[in-house]
Amino acid sequence: MCVDLPNEMRSGIGRRRLMAGLGLGAAGLALGAGVPGEANAAKNPLRKFGPPSSRGSKTKLVLLGTAGGPTHFPGNDSAGIASALVVGDRYYLIDAGHGVLTQLRKANLGPENPAAQVGPLDVLAGIFLTHLHSDHVVDLNNVLVNGIYNGLQSVNKIPVWGPGNRGALPPLFGTGPAPAPVSPGNPTPGTREMTDLMVQMFATDLNDRIFDNRKPAPTQLWEGKDVPVPERYLKDPNGTPAPDMKPFTFYEDERVKVSATLVNHAPVFPALAYRFDTDDGSVVFSGDTAKCPNLVRLARNADVLVHEVIDEDWAGQLFPVPRSEAEEGLYQHLIQAHTLKSEVGSIAAEANVGTLVLSHLVPVIQPESVWAECAKGFDGRMVVGRDLDVIDVGK
Ligand SMILES: [Zn+2]
Ligand SMILES: [Zn+2]
Repeated sequence: MCVDLPNEMRSGIGRRRLMAGLGLGAAGLALGAGVPGEANAAKNPLRKFGPPSSRGSKTKLVLLGTAGGPTHFPGNDSAGIASALVVGDRYYLIDAGHGVLTQLRKANLGPENPAAQVGPLDVLAGIFLTHLHSDHVVDLNNVLVNGIYNGLQSVNKIPVWGPGNRGALPPLFGTGPAPAPVSPGNPTPGTREMTDLMVQMFATDLNDRIFDNRKPAPTQLWEGKDVPVPERYLKDPNGTPAPDMKPFTFYEDERVKVSATLVNHAPVFPALAYRFDTDDGSVVFSGDTAKCPNLVRLARNADVLVHEVIDEDWAGQLFPVPRSEAEEGLYQHLIQAHTLKSEVGSIAAEANVGTLVLSHLVPVIQPESVWAECAKGFDGRMVVGRDLDVIDVGK
């Protein structure tokens, strides 16, 4: 992952090393004055569930955006799904929903030196995409392309991990003739292809930055990579999208070990859940999934489970009974790709996790009282995630 860095990038890394030498980076990243999560905690009655957050851990979960789905609700300004896992003096980004770069700024993720002329990406260590639905990746370009002016030029080349090519179009839902697919030459690109296409899409801008501003090229800054799901589990995207499997580890550095498993977000495939193990503890991100044994296996005994959830009563109100056959199909389609609020507590209990954090709320506009149901069947601590919450992990 090493690259030959231009001088301006060397100076950024030199400053960070100096800070570490002075002990400025040793306690981990600055998370801003007043820690937004603490302010939120006072307003969030569900903090009463379970023990209070531990203090002093070098591993922290920061919820950057907690809204699920591509719909923006009038009067609600929640950011799209994205989380940062801070481990010491670096952090990892999990998904990149709308507003992610702004949220990284608001979370004050970055070096503790306030005079540093750097951005929140100065200490980004890697990106992990759970799947390629737009609500999870729509602002990836803001992180990568605009990132050149927000600190990305100061880091070593970062990996952008995510699912590979689906390999086949999804089955046609409902009846009638099949529509013409978008991009018929390659209708289901994976993460590596998507990041390459993003570079093509922004080539005019990137070449201007490279030639006129002498900025580094994308090949020096990031690399799209497909998570290497074992081939035997990729054979039946339209029939068995999440075959029973053991989690597999695919990434490791001095701070984290990252494992993955396939989850059931049909017809999206591959859809991944990730587990990060650090010296402090473990955090699992469900991605989007219906109730799925693979996820329980991945999350076994984790300190924190960040899980998606849908309010099935709200979905029912969208399609009130009596439903026509087509409406019933659409309703089932919606609730069968996600985890219901009546299910998520028992999933956390079965996996024996310490803290359940609800994020990717569908719909995000529901009040805390609606999500209180999620605690049913779970004795641990539950947090209804809101943007910029900060949760300590482990010790
Ligand atoms: Zn989603
Ligand atoms: Zn999705």
